[in-house]
Amino acid sequence: MATIILNKNNFFNNLDIIAKYSKSVDKIALVLKDNAYGHGLVEMSSMAKEYGIKRAVVRTHREAEIAESFFSYILVLGDIPTMVSKTIRYTINDLESIDKFPKETRVELKIDSGMHRNGIAIDEIEEAFIKIKARGLLLEGLFTHHRSADELTSEWFWQKKNFEDAKRIAKELAIKYGFAPLRFHSSNSAALFRNASFDEDMARVGIAAYGCMTLPKPLHVDGFKPVLSLWAKKLSSRKLKSHQRVGYGGDGEILSDGVVSNYDFGYGEGFLRVCANGYKTPEGIELIGRISMDNSSFLSSKDKLLIFDSALHVATYASTISYEVLTSLKPEIKREIF
Ligand SMILES: *Cc1c(COP(=O)(O)O)cnc(C)c1O
Repeated sequence: MATIILNKNNFFNNLDIIAKYSKSVDKIALVLKDNAYGHGLVEMSSMAKEYGIKRAVVRTHREAEIAESFFSYILVLGDIPTMVSKTIRYTINDLESIDKFPKETRVELKIDSGMHRNGIAIDEIEEAFIKIKARGLLLEGLFTHHRSADELTSEWFWQKKNFEDAKRIAKELAIKYGFAPLRFHSSNSAALFRNASFDEDMARVGIAAYGCMTLPKPLHVDGFKPVLSLWAKKLSSRKLKSHQRVGYGGDGEILSDGVVSNYDFGYGEGFLRVCANGYKTPEGIELIGRISMDNSSFLSSKDKLLIFDSALHVATYASTISYEVLTSLKPEIKREIF
């Protein structure tokens, strides 16, 4: 099986850049959903704690339980608990779900500021507040998510304006219904870097912390370094003659005599199968033939092979996004912090 190496210096370098934009480490809420974007939830949580990060965002209650000992604040984006926790907050994604939360659950209300995926409409805020109060939930915050913060359009400004309206309304209603002052947040990575005058209570940062963000040139931020690299071990080697074919279907033809080695990883570990035949490692070593479940062949005789040191490199080859390359990596792969 392949090995994932996590580079702590690169992670801390990325957090340094993020902290400059968020203006405080305490305002960084590290997004750790989906096994910390495939990096490993426990490994990333422990490094984040060492750096001084206090807040995390996850998808499920189970992820929150695993991360709970590392953070003083955790926000769950998409799950409803059966028990109440002091550290863990849960997202209300629509009006109907409010009655499913146990009494005294700490909750944050998601606002649909234009993405139309989750959240309540701005003109439903009062109804939501009434239901939250009647249910006995502890409302702590209001937040939204941008659909196009990483694109060079005016949509980010439009959603920002909508959320400003939502905040104003919520502040007034919080007084009317006797809620404590609310926490407000709307920025993912791309939105944070667009906003020179960031002044919210926190920013939910994922992909930038992992060092695999791409933004259009005018929005580009320098200095991020990828945290995750994937390494594979050689299982076996053979000398092949020009025009012999390697692997299933004989798809991979070698064009001159050479050594082809087979490495211990494949789509079973979550490496994208679409990278077959022609993918080159960062060192320029070529993959030959199809990717099998547990085997992939390269024009190489190295014992240890670097498969990629930036998910962006694979994403470009596979015509996808770094998020998919990373979250495809299975939790069973060994992770080492370096
Ligand atoms: C995934 C997610 C984020 C993080 O987005 P990045 O682009 O990785 O920074 C922030 N907020 C919400 C609601 C998310 O689902």
